[in-house]
Amino acid sequence: MNSDSFLKERCFIDGAWVANAGETIKVTNPASGEVLGAAPKFGRAETRRAIDAAYEAFPDWRARSAEERGGFCMKIHDALMDHQAALGELLTREMGKPLAEAKGEVAYAAAFFKWFAEEVRRVYGDVIPSPWADKRIIVTKEPVGVVGSITPWNFPTAMIARKAAAALAAGCPIICKPASQTPFSALAYGVIAEMVDLPKGLLNVITGSASEIAGEFCENPKLRKITFTGSTPVGKGLASNALKYMKRISMELGGNAPFIVFDDADLDRAVDGAIASKYRNSGQTCVCANRVYVQSGVYDAFAEKLTAKARDLKVGDGLENGVEQGPLIDAAAVAKVEEHIADATAKGARVLTGGKPHALGGTFFEPTVLRDVNADMLIASDETFGPVAPLFKFDTEEEVIALANDTEFGLASYFYTNDLGRAWRVMEALEYGMVAVNEGILSTPVAPFGGVKESGQGREGSRYGLEDYLNVKFGLIGGLR
Ligand code: NAP
Repeated sequence: MNSDSFLKERCFIDGAWVANAGETIKVTNPASGEVLGAAPKFGRAETRRAIDAAYEAFPDWRARSAEERGGFCMKIHDALMDHQAALGELLTREMGKPLAEAKGEVAYAAAFFKWFAEEVRRVYGDVIPSPWADKRIIVTKEPVGVVGSITPWNFPTAMIARKAAAALAAGCPIICKPASQTPFSALAYGVIAEMVDLPKGLLNVITGSASEIAGEFCENPKLRKITFTGSTPVGKGLASNALKYMKRISMELGGNAPFIVFDDADLDRAVDGAIASKYRNSGQTCVCANRVYVQSGVYDAFAEKLTAKARDLKVGDGLENGVEQGPLIDAAAVAKVEEHIADATAKGARVLTGGKPHALGGTFFEPTVLRDVNADMLIASDETFGPVAPLFKFDTEEEVIALANDTEFGLASYFYTNDLGRAWRVMEALEYGMVAVNEGILSTPVAPFGGVKESGQGREGSRYGLEDYLNVKFGLIGGLR
């Protein structure tokens, strides 16, 4: 099968492909402007239909053994891997990231299905020592019920996997609403569901109006949990609406990751980590290094080495061989990057490389390094979501911890040091859900991904990621003596 075999212009509801006669969402390849196709613009009525189907499917699914549900998740893993190349190509065509990264994302997505297939067999309960001689206390875990998921465009395959794999393994049917820029990688899950004969109603994919779909998710009593990945402002609005109806929520929101390089760090390792963290996916990841703090003793050397590597990155259409940085998702993304650079340079920052749209045109942007950046610049407080590495200078450990924590966000953070004491101290002092020491990439299905502060709540991946789809039930058995 090639990537076109997975490109569906209909939604997947209750195990069937549903077209609409009305409005559609046009999808273009950000590298070429080519129109790939159009997805239905559905609203409340079709969302209700998907929720009804999921609700119908729930009793049978939750009653199956963990092994059986896990078995389906393993089949989804295998199907994703069998079609990794085609799915990766589809992802690159609609989102722009280099093909190697896109194929890596498909493998990363598949790994969540494998992880939760295995992990669901270890959902243990508890027997709590009873305060009464004639009563016993047991604790069991049950699936939360029908789940509504909303995901962004930057990892269109993996963000769904982190939610759908945990939900399905735990015993919950799911309705997935992908971003309007990247519906096809999401709709491809419908093809996968058919391939593995997943019972109908368990995995639904609906495209359309975010506010209508989210509104139905919040208000429909048959839906019990909302899981969201996206920006903090949208997540906050969604969370407050969901809590009006007391839905369980998981919120994976924005970040403003500090990337700290201490004088005692292995500088080459730090430069490689910064390149990986900053320029992967053209800087459009929630865990991207957004503020690079370099201690004064190595500032110039680090700036020089990073600039040399950033300058060498190959920019182009993600489908071309050897391309390391694709286009940005759209013109608004380019405008935000330009605004951050203009603000920083007006306030004294210097461009070491890049700094402007790429000669390729469209939404391609040059990998950029800025030096002499300070806390008064927009780039210090706002997520850039583009290929710009702003270098801040600091002198002491206390100073950089205060700077790193001076943000409402708390998702990922990174630092480089060869001092064991400092490694522990700084790891404990950083107010973030995730801290990587001497590494620039930290995501894996086996570890809990998620943030603190305004970066959200809940965790994805690991055994904690499964807990987010389970309710705890206390059972009391009396009259035993
Ligand atoms: P976004 O604008 O918040 O969109 C994300 C999703 O929310 C899309 O499906 C969008 O649908 C939908 N949406 C828009 N308005 C909505 C509303 N009123 N109610 C409910 N849903 C609504 O975010 P984005 O710009 O696409 O994605 C980038 C952001 O995601 C960044 O801030 C990044 O840090 C964050 N992110 C976080 C994580 C994490 O794990 N913490 C991972 C990846 C990305 P439409 O496309 O149809 O508008």
